[in-house]
Amino acid sequence: MNDQLRTAKRLVIKIGSSLLVDQKTGALRQEWLNALADDVAACRARNQDVLLVSSGAIALGRRSLGLGDRTLRLEDSQAAAAAGQIRLAHAYQESLARHAVPVAQILLTSDDTEQRRRYLNARNTLTALLAHGSVPVVNENDTVATEEIRFGDNDRLAARVAAMIGADWLVLLSDIDGLYSADPRQDSSAAFIAEVDEITPEIEAMAAGTGSHDGSGGMVTKLQAARLACQAGCSMIIADGSAPHPIARLETGGRGTLFSTTATPASARKRWIAGSLRARGSITIDAGAAQALTQGKSLLPAGVTAVEGDFERGDAVTVRGPDGAALARGLTAYSAADAQRILGHRSDRIQAILGFLGREEMIHRDDLALG
Ligand code: GLU
Repeated sequence: MNDQLRTAKRLVIKIGSSLLVDQKTGALRQEWLNALADDVAACRARNQDVLLVSSGAIALGRRSLGLGDRTLRLEDSQAAAAAGQIRLAHAYQESLARHAVPVAQILLTSDDTEQRRRYLNARNTLTALLAHGSVPVVNENDTVATEEIRFGDNDRLAARVAAMIGADWLVLLSDIDGLYSADPRQDSSAAFIAEVDEITPEIEAMAAGTGSHDGSGGMVTKLQAARLACQAGCSMIIADGSAPHPIARLETGGRGTLFSTTATPASARKRWIAGSLRARGSITIDAGAAQALTQGKSLLPAGVTAVEGDFERGDAVTVRGPDGAALARGLTAYSAADAQRILGHRSDRIQAILGFLGREEMIHRDDLALG
């Protein structure tokens, strides 16, 4: 475990409300947060990209609005989230500023991870933030999420975000150290499960019996997160984060339940592009571009000779060689109308032709699946 986390390229850490907010007083656990920030800074110092998905807005906001412990109606929990989120973001910013790590806040709803165009925008922004060395802090946009578009739990949100940014590791920190064969609080013979290779119906049955005090997600949502993450080539670990320095602890052998996948984020993404999306049109390229593609390069507008179909930026398209044969499938960075205008031109002409500075590539190599 230890080496795997230390060598992760891109790490998503999900922090449950019960870790950040004292259950009795409703106050922020500042020392715990500072210790977590130390762990995050250590990852950044090793050049690992880190993204945090943090709960706690509602728990913090309850206190500021004087809402007590009672069960909240949707609009009251949304109001609490609005009041709490500003404190939550501030707390992360202050804690990580001790290490000069810049923080950025991103609030998402499930729509943003499902609708192509919003997905693409969120992905691009997150990728840019990571490239600039910042630590994005993500939460659900509770104040605008209606029942239909709510994740409701940050376990699945964290897995979707991990898939979106091609993370190779997702750590779910909560108040339970992993998966047990039964609820350990009720059954003393419950056995701890250190590793899950496949999420079978037996594993699901175990999760159904195990709760967590943490926020809205129990073990069931954690398993759903594991499934989403593993499909995207991201391994996941569920661990108890209550004690200070939870990441450093895991790195030095601390226990948790591991869901490992042999797929990589890149291979999973290519499989998804090749297999799950319907092509909305096609782009025909010249012989030089076709050769560049087989060498693993991106497709530039200069190599495009024709565009067919009515597609939007981010849609899947078929890439055809000079003879019309399908060579690849990819996600296009330009709509059909824009692609039509820039085809055959060098990338440094894009801004002059379209009036905005778009991507250099028509299809980036990360978004191309050959064959
Ligand atoms: N988005 C909620 C909050 O910040 C938490 C959701 C969850 O508990 O997973 O309070």
